[in-house]
Order: sequence, then structure tokens, then C-alpha cells
Amino acid sequence: MWKIKQSVLLNAILAANNFLPEEFVCLLGGDKKKNEVSEIVFVPSETSEDSASINTLSIPFDETIVGSLHSHPFTSGTASEEDKRFFGKYSLNIILGHPYTIENAQFFDEKGNRTQILILEG
Ligand SMILES: [Zn+2]
Repeated sequence: MWKIKQSVLLNAILAANNFLPEEFVCLLGGDKKKNEVSEIVFVPSETSEDSASINTLSIPFDETIVGSLHSHPFTSGTASEEDKRFFGKYSLNIILGHPYTIENAQFFDEKGNRTQILILEG
């Protein structure tokens, strides 16, 4: 099971709120062997009010990138078909449904299935 520090999730929520009304996209950095997310990795992205995409050329080819996160400013944390295609790249994908709270964060595996993660204090 993936683990994420609460402070990392709260930082993502803060950033997503700053992007309103646009979608916020970022990658998640961490340790694949420990199944742990330790940081948000900001990447150039093109966002609009109903979609966000990361220029795949801008994704660092890096072992420490373990997942993705994006926000849904107007909808719940349900994954769209487009989301599910994108999720195939990473074994952990987070969608923040609006209003952005830890409770409204949804977690998905690379197949687009909901998954559980452990939120660590600190
Ligand atoms: Zn989405």
C-alpha cells in the first residue's frame, strides 16, 4: 500500500486552491521500493477550466517519480476515461475533488481502479 505524508497532501491541496478555477496537475516524487510519496514535483502543464494535461516531454525521466496528482475544480474525484489512460504511467494517481480536502482526495492505481493509501502524520 502506498503511503503519503499528510503535509505533502496538504501542500497539493493548497496549490490546487491557488490554481482555481483551473485544474492543477503535478507529479509525485518518492520511493518506489518503500511505496512512499515524499514530495510534490511541479511540472509545466497546460491547464484550462475543464482539463489539464502535462506535456509528456516535460516529464522528468526519473526513478523518483512515482505518481501523478490532479484536481477536478468542478466535479468529484471520479476518474474520467482520459484520466484512466493517463494513469497507466504510474502506480499511484490522486484526484482532488472540489472542495479540496483530504476527505475528497481519491486514489487510483495504474489501471484506474480505486486504491487505498495510508496517510502518515507529519
Ligand atoms: Zn481528471
